[in-house]
Amino acid sequence: MIHNELKTRVVGINVNVHDTTCAVVDIRGNILGQCSFVTSDYEFVGDFVAALSEHIMQLAEEHGGYESIRSVGISIPSGNFKTGCIENAPNLPWKGVVPLAAMLRDQLGLAVALANNAYVMALGEQAFGAAHGMRDFILISLGSGMGSCICCNGVSHLGSNGFAGEIGHTCVNPNGRECGCGKHGCLETYTAARGIVQTAVELMAESSEPSKMREVEQLTPAIITELCEQGDALAIETYRRVGYILGVGLANYASVLNPEAFVFAGQVSKAGNWLLEPACKSFEKHVFHNAEGKVKLVLSTIDDDVRNVLGASVLAWEVKEYSLFK
Ligand SMILES: [Zn+2]
Repeated sequence: MIHNELKTRVVGINVNVHDTTCAVVDIRGNILGQCSFVTSDYEFVGDFVAALSEHIMQLAEEHGGYESIRSVGISIPSGNFKTGCIENAPNLPWKGVVPLAAMLRDQLGLAVALANNAYVMALGEQAFGAAHGMRDFILISLGSGMGSCICCNGVSHLGSNGFAGEIGHTCVNPNGRECGCGKHGCLETYTAARGIVQTAVELMAESSEPSKMREVEQLTPAIITELCEQGDALAIETYRRVGYILGVGLANYASVLNPEAFVFAGQVSKAGNWLLEPACKSFEKHVFHNAEGKVKLVLSTIDDDVRNVLGASVLAWEVKEYSLFK
């Protein structure tokens, strides 16, 4: 059979709590066009899917037509690649288990795959970014939470139910801070945004050293980073403490998995070396001796928004069957 209808494009979608971005991407990873809308405008998931389809159809129309689109990939918080569902996402408006991939597939008549943000970030970094050419690396996403994706021998590891990589909820202190997940001492209670601010607040209470952090009403990791640049000693000490605990968590992870590198992405990773230098020092101190000096800690080389839609496009190319989910 001669197949004349070459599908040369896919749609990559990045959904986060605030907004949703759709992009038409060609086989070389060029973003041909994109559009965004506000995620939280849609209280009901059915309305969200209808709006999303409309945006995709219009975008396809403007960039080569519906016929040229092969498939769709979605990056979404708590997305499970194995089931095509969003599963109990704490920060999205739609509760419980939502079969988003199947819903969008039925609406569009195209194959749809979805996965969680860290998984898609890893695909994006592997195809176009800091992890290019690496077969064994761990993507660490640092933002309001801490997620990860383990890429093992070139393939992302999902685990038997699709939940692998929850490094943010590994325990670094059994008597430590209370986590949103209900447990105590989870790594992300120290290394994600809220935990970093909490460490800064604790430091200010412990010492009488002057610091510009004391004058800020709503501290954020970005403000603390800015004050580090200005030489603020307590701000620098905040990231030193955060980095120390991060290094312990990464060392445990590396001792088990022996990766070539950790690749850092997400808003909090913009602290750069203020965070990575102390993390690296602590990492070398705690990792099993055979891995000492062998694991790289590197920052993502692509802008978050671009990487996430490109990663979603890689996911789209990997969809093989139209009816992946019931
Ligand atoms: Zn937790």
